[in-house]
Amino acid sequence: MCFRAGSGSVVHMIEVAELTKRYGATLAVDRLSFTVRPGRVTGFLGPNGAGKSTTMRTILGLDTPNSGRTLVNGKRYAQIRWPLHEVGALLDAAAVHGGRRAADHLYCLARANRIGRARVSEVLEQVGLGGVARKRIGGYSLGMKQRLGVAGALLGDPGVLLFDEPVNGLDPEGIRWIRELMRSLAGEGRTVLVSSHLMSEMALTADHVLVLGRGRLVTETSMADLLAHFRRDVFVRTPKPAELGAALAAAGATVLGEPDGALSVTGCDPVKIGDIAAKRGISVHELTPRSASLEEAYLEITDESVQYRAGLEESVR
Ligand code: ADP
Repeated sequence: MCFRAGSGSVVHMIEVAELTKRYGATLAVDRLSFTVRPGRVTGFLGPNGAGKSTTMRTILGLDTPNSGRTLVNGKRYAQIRWPLHEVGALLDAAAVHGGRRAADHLYCLARANRIGRARVSEVLEQVGLGGVARKRIGGYSLGMKQRLGVAGALLGDPGVLLFDEPVNGLDPEGIRWIRELMRSLAGEGRTVLVSSHLMSEMALTADHVLVLGRGRLVTETSMADLLAHFRRDVFVRTPKPAELGAALAAAGATVLGEPDGALSVTGCDPVKIGDIAAKRGISVHELTPRSASLEEAYLEITDESVQYRAGLEESVR
């Protein structure tokens, strides 16, 4: 069984339209709309309580929306005949029966979706659990349970995959493994949605990002654009700071002195700064673009300031 991008006529994607979900007085998801497309890892980023898990559970038919709808490959989850063949998910790795052996757990899932035993062995090998497949899950570490959850998600070779905070509880080797797996699944043309509350994690994993705050979409953009938005200034070291500073200011840049004679330049990119220096025969010893730290950037985008959000959307579009 092998998934190939473009095979058949199905477009593998997730569509969320005007989704609203309340739990009593709590508005968990608020008129949320987005589309997750194939061939890239889409990060679902937001602080704890932003509504990421609720959205994922709704996509998988585990929660009923108050209004709006979610579709996988153009269908509601309940309309999908053999769900594991279309959408695989890892939501809560600990939600497995501890008394069962890993292979039996997967075999139950497989039988319900008309998947043979050979595929169970295949996915257990793929996630590195081949050697412990006959052990009871109760004795597994959280990292091993995460791998088992990934095996379950991959079982039906689906074109759409959802992972909710998959790196939680993993050691550095496990984190690297899951990052590479997600990237390779996207590279095969699958649709991959992965949630995290950590900007630093998303920056290493996702190509595209949906930022959620208080149940709403704060912004949707490419990871590269998001990071570029937080570029602060260019740090310039030169033996002639006064001369270069004046030339840059004349070209419209804002130039501030740094304590050791270096310059902080905004409003002029490194290429232009280098060109201006070269034109005047001024040596440049360092030219470094500086960004806000990922965590600072994250706090900024999940801040409630509507004015700021409007600014971000304008600048990244
Ligand atoms: P995230 O995954 O981004 O951390 P969640 O979707 O888990 O966010 O939660 C969004 C909000 O909905 C939170 O305020 C949370 O407390 C609330 N919530 C989530 N699930 C339930 C539930 N089953 N019952 C009541 N409130 C819930």
